[in-house]
Amino acid sequence: MRAGPSQEDIRRHNLGALLRHVHLGGPISRAELTSKMGLNRSTIMALTSDLTAAGLVREELPRETGRAGRPSLVVRPESARVYVFAFDVGPDRLAVARVGLGGVILDRREAVRDRDRFELDELTGVLSGFARQMRRKTRDDTVCVGAAAAVSGGVRKADGVVSFGPNLKAEEVPFGEELARRLGLGLPVSVGNDANLAALAEHSRGVGVAVRDLIYLHGDVGIGGGIISGGHLIGGHDGYGGEVGHMVVNPGGRACGCGSHGCLEAEVGERTLLESAGRVSDGRQGRDAVRGVVEAADRGDIVAQEALSRVGDWLGLGVANLVNIFNPELVIFGGVLREIYLGSAAQVRSQLALHAMAHQRERLRLRTSALGDAAPLVGAAELAFAHVLSDPLEVLARANA
Ligand SMILES: [Zn+2]
Repeated sequence: MRAGPSQEDIRRHNLGALLRHVHLGGPISRAELTSKMGLNRSTIMALTSDLTAAGLVREELPRETGRAGRPSLVVRPESARVYVFAFDVGPDRLAVARVGLGGVILDRREAVRDRDRFELDELTGVLSGFARQMRRKTRDDTVCVGAAAAVSGGVRKADGVVSFGPNLKAEEVPFGEELARRLGLGLPVSVGNDANLAALAEHSRGVGVAVRDLIYLHGDVGIGGGIISGGHLIGGHDGYGGEVGHMVVNPGGRACGCGSHGCLEAEVGERTLLESAGRVSDGRQGRDAVRGVVEAADRGDIVAQEALSRVGDWLGLGVANLVNIFNPELVIFGGVLREIYLGSAAQVRSQLALHAMAHQRERLRLRTSALGDAAPLVGAAELAFAHVLSDPLEVLARANA
């Protein structure tokens, strides 16, 4: 016979659930927590006292109640005190943020990255250097409870190794392990695919809050994706799921960095758009160059308009395939796909009308990312907070030790 959950298991679960409410939803009264969590008042009071004693939340009288009687205390996250480090490693850019409980970005640094080479030493040196600078500026009573990185590449579920990252020039890199060593915080660094983490970020804090079935498409040099189905990210057997950029939309089309031909990424990615718009010879590349094409099309540049319209057709075809397979409620365009989608929405919609099944597209909504370029960073922060949300007191005790 298997024993059921112990009192201690239940308490740990409830502490995590309560902290999650405060972390994702912001300040909330004890009365609201009572009804949202379906627990009685004295249990909520015991849980908030434990979290307050640990320094994870604080309880305050609400500013104005407008009601007679004793007001319910409001529980707030200790955002300035409890924080994580979030890292974003993109093809052209590195970003580091110190993010407080509740998702508040407290401090942030960015650096340009050379997309043509991947030097683990140099990279982790820059990232850990930024983290150290930020740590020096913190008060003595602050505590770092986690660290995580969003990486533009495939991350193996079993060991967190970046197995492939053609747009980073990375292969079989123990990135998290090395960054953890360089940080020297005594904390592991969790690693996730940037588009997967951006999808989770939009799901928890962006345009996809409360949406259980969504697809997030991320444009950078290539196209990444994150598929959330029934509220869960589809990671696949090894953790490489959601590589929508390598869905073949045009067999016999352009060569792709993955070795195949006619992948969505090859037909929609940065290089194709810049080439079609006649903007490769001047050596421009990256987000600003892509955004330049969209702006030129907006101003009436015919070549830019044609390039964008072609890309929009392929993008629409790719989205139609995804919609038929996953029946999402929402498709989100993030990274540079935000601007590309806005500049080619007519093409995307007409491809959907042609190729997506009527019942699947009936209630489908297409939206741009609410978090913009910060989405992978915000997703990394959420990954870093995952431990403290699953066992708040234990993680905090360890971090304070
Ligand atoms: Zn490919």
